[in-house]
Amino acid sequence: MANCAYKRVMLKISGEALSGANGYGFDFDVVGRIAREVKTLVDMDVEVGLVVGGGNIWRGRSGEGMDRTTADHMGMLATCINALALQDALEGIGVHTRVQTAIEMKEIAEPFIRRRAVRHLEKGRVVIFGAGSGNPYFSTDTAAALRAAEIEADVILLAKNVDGVYDKDPNKFADAKKYDKLTYMEVIEQGLQVMDTTATTLCMDNNIPILVFGISEEGNIKKVMEGHKIGTIVSKK
Ligand code: UDP
Repeated sequence: MANCAYKRVMLKISGEALSGANGYGFDFDVVGRIAREVKTLVDMDVEVGLVVGGGNIWRGRSGEGMDRTTADHMGMLATCINALALQDALEGIGVHTRVQTAIEMKEIAEPFIRRRAVRHLEKGRVVIFGAGSGNPYFSTDTAAALRAAEIEADVILLAKNVDGVYDKDPNKFADAKKYDKLTYMEVIEQGLQVMDTTATTLCMDNNIPILVFGISEEGNIKKVMEGHKIGTIVSKK
């Protein structure tokens, strides 16, 4: 493995990232580009677990007036649609990929079995974890933190549309300041938009660093792996 900062990573891609500028559904050019970025990791012999969100299709909190649990089930199904789209794009460029879901749908994907997931990773297959944690009232960020702990990932790579963590929204404020480094406690106390608090505390309790970086710029994942200082790292100190 050539100069890789990490051996096993958990890549979290938001659903929104798959929709490109459309804001809904898929922009297949973007899906293809993300797949190529993942391939660069695999080509560097990095083991890749991937959790994808569902926000390009449905989020539980969008279900105004709906039963929250039902709305969250719909969100988890949305993540499975995204997982299959990414699997298809990855396999299309020769990357062996397995989807494992937290809610069983065995005609479509494997159920989540930790030992089996780890075995796939050891064989160089990308494992996409669908249906979040399988529980309502959680987010895919929390699912990424949970699966990262379970597969003993070295880091969570949090791919965003912005290139790191800022003190305020950089799309609205020209003077927004980007952080290079933060502690988990700073994220929580300052209410910074990294991951939700449940996910952040799970990472803190299990000492899993979170690297927030921009996915819209091609080649960033490779730069992260080569140890370039891009984005924002959230860790113990
Ligand atoms: N969800 C859930 N439990 C989980 C993960 C996700 O209920 O463990 C539901 C929840 O409704 C959420 C939706 O799935 O809004 C999509 O996930 P998320 O909002 O995290 O996607 P992202 O914002 O990353 O696209």
